[in-house]
Order: sequence, then structure tokens, then C-alpha cells
Amino acid sequence: MITIVGAGPAGSYLAYLLAKKGEDVTIVEEHESIGSPIQCTGIVTGSIEKFVKLPNNVIANRCSKVIVVSKNNRIVANTDEIVMWRNKFDEFMANKATDVGVKILTNHQFINFNNKNSIRIKNNNNNHIKNIESEIIVGADGPSSAVAKSAGLKTNTKFYVGMQAKVKLKMDFDAFETHFGGNFPNFFGWFVPESEDTVRLGLGAFKNAKDYFYKFLEERTGKKEVLCWESGIYPIYNPKQIIQKENIYLIGDAATQVKATTGGGIIPSLKAAQTLCDCIINKKNYNKELKKHSGRELLLHLKIRNILNKFSDKDYDYLLKLMSQEKVKKILKKYDRDTPIPLVLNLLLKEPRFLLFSRFVI
Ligand SMILES: Cc1cc2nc3c(=O)[nH]c(=O)nc-3n(C[C@H](O)[C@H](O)[C@H](O)COP(=O)(O)OP(=O)(O)OC[C@H]3O[C@@H](n4cnc5c(N)ncnc54)[C@H](O)[C@@H]3O)c2cc1C
Repeated sequence: MITIVGAGPAGSYLAYLLAKKGEDVTIVEEHESIGSPIQCTGIVTGSIEKFVKLPNNVIANRCSKVIVVSKNNRIVANTDEIVMWRNKFDEFMANKATDVGVKILTNHQFINFNNKNSIRIKNNNNNHIKNIESEIIVGADGPSSAVAKSAGLKTNTKFYVGMQAKVKLKMDFDAFETHFGGNFPNFFGWFVPESEDTVRLGLGAFKNAKDYFYKFLEERTGKKEVLCWESGIYPIYNPKQIIQKENIYLIGDAATQVKATTGGGIIPSLKAAQTLCDCIINKKNYNKELKKHSGRELLLHLKIRNILNKFSDKDYDYLLKLMSQEKVKKILKKYDRDTPIPLVLNLLLKEPRFLLFSRFVI
């Protein structure tokens, strides 16, 4: 038997893939309702459909344009992005898993390991503790992974605070915005329209995220009012994170598998689920296999993030100037951020001046 802790995208998709291969899989999920509370913007590139075909009820909006804003510059580029109802997406993924025979124990919380083949879980309805024996245990339990801690796999990973809220605001329904520069140190801010009059407004920061958030909100809406909060934390990809120790594995945010450029972790977790399924079924080393596959992409995102974190407002203005050229916009439309290796190579080929930013590597 295989036990997966966490019914987020990583856990449910892995469970689905393993059950399709004939494995007996149980998911332990601490919340009663899968997908709640929401701590996500839910925006993904069209690349998600390489993994799953999304039903209409999961899709809140599709954006064909992105508006990129720096202190003194602003560009509009074509794109293909899906804004999801994140809770419905998680429910959809969990239903895919149960449809192929996965058992989900909701309202049950992983507490710790008794030994490498036995875990303690608590029934949150009545506080009863019981043990589950399992040949394989997977921590898909998000950025604060209790599985990683209890298995001794926690490293000194850095986290962003992602402050996000739903806000009443009318904006172009077809376009989402990203904002860069001094008001968004080490990350960026976003407006993502989910309906004609409601947007998901947020930003990431290492510290003082709330102050930056209210400044951003007030500048745009003139008020400090939000409809509801959807904040959380995201880990920065840590290539040194051990993701397999004997029969214990980590995946998704628990394994820091997040694009450091954007904080996006949904598609990386689906990619990692395919790798981990193959490793479990064919007894391969997951630490090595992940590095060979999506690990390379995550490393590239990390390198780009380290460069961006050294940018001044002037550097962002210049970056947008280069991006405003039609030849660059075509590349940005053809390759999305979930195929970063061809994206970066083609950008450098078409516009070698991007190489000027390599001075920040030193
Ligand atoms: C503000 C914000 C905005 C974001 N926006 C985007 C975005 O637009 N696009 C994108 O791709 N990514 C985004 N992300 C990142 C994305 O949300 C995560 O990368 C993604 O959810 C990771 O999936 P996961 O399955 O690894 O973990 P999670 O989705 O966190 O799922 C973990 C599951 O484990 C359960 N769990 C935790 N502890 C236990 C326990 N002890 N016992 C049992 N169950 C447990 C939780 O209840 C949860 O259901 C955002 C993150 C934040 C914070």
C-alpha cells in the first residue's frame, strides 16, 4: 500500500497516476473539504492541458493578454493563461483519483512517523489517533510539510509571503497585470481578473508583505477594503532539498518544487508527480530522476530569480523595452514559462542584449 499525505494537486495527481498503474493508494487529508481554504491565485499557462483536460466549471476566466508594468514602462503581450477556481480544481483532481480507486481520508491529519513504514494520524472529528502501515509514504502536504519535518528531511529553505485578496475592481477581463520594481522588492505584484468586477490582487515579499500589499491596493482602488484573504507562503526551489529517503518521498511545495520566478507550483507539481510515479513503479532514484527532468527547469527559474532580485527600477524599465519588440513578443507567445529552457534560448537568440543582464550573475 502507498499512503500520500495531502490532497492538493501534487498528492491527488500522483495518487491518480499510481492507481492507474494498479497500486493500492490512500490519501490522508487534514481538511474536511478538499481545496479549502484557498491560498492561491490559480493562474496557470495553457501547458496544464498537457496533463489534464480542465472541465468548464474549474475555469473562471481565460486571459489572452498580459500587461507588464515597471516604474516608467508598460507593455502588452499576447499570452494564453487560464484562471482557475482553485478549490474546484483541487476537487476535480481528487475526484479523478477516487474514480480510479484511490481512497481519501478527509479530516485526518498526519502527526508523525512511528517508523519508516508506520505513521500516526489523527481523526479531526473525534481526536482519535490511529496508525497506518504502508510500504511507501509520500509527503504532498504543502510548504510547511509535517512529513518532511518528521522524516528529518527539512532543510533551511527560504519562503516568500504571498499576500493575496479578492477585491472589487473593474478591469479588462481579458488581461492580467504584473508589476515590477521598488514597490515589489524581490518579487512582483499582480491583478488577475476572476470575473467582470472582481480581481485577485496580490504580491510576494520576504518581509513587510502586508505594508506593500496595502500600498498597492490603495494606489489602485483608493481604499483598503478587501472581500476575502487568500494568502499563504511559497518555498523557493532548493536544489539541495532531499526528496527521497528510502521509502519516504516528498513532492510539490513539500519538496520546494516551485518556479522561483513566479511562485507557481501547480504545473511543476504535476510534472514531478509523473517523475515520482515512474520512480516508484520502476524503482528508480527520485532524487536523481527529478534533477534530470523538471529539476533543470526549476534551477533555471531559480537562476533567473537571483538575477531579477538584483534589478533596479531602471533595469526593469530596460527589460520591458527589450520585451516590447514584436520579435520578442512572438517568442513569449510561443514558449511559456513552463517550458523555460527553449524560452530562454530563443529569447537570447532573437535578442542578444538580454545577455547584458548576465552581469548580475557575478
Ligand atoms: C498567494 C499564493 C498564490 C499562488 N498562486 C499560484 C498560481 O497562480 N499558480 C500556481 O501554479 N501556483 C500558485 N501558488 C503556489 C501553489 O498554490 C502551490 O505551489 C500548490 O498548491 C502546491 O501544491 P501541493 O499539492 O504541493 O500543496 P498544497 O496545495 O498546499 O496541498 C497540500 C495539502 O496537504 C494538506 N495537509 C497539510 N498538512 C497536512 C497534514 N499534516 N496532514 C494531512 N494533510 C495535510 C493540506 O490541507 C493540503 O490540502 C500560489 C501560492 C500562494 C501562497
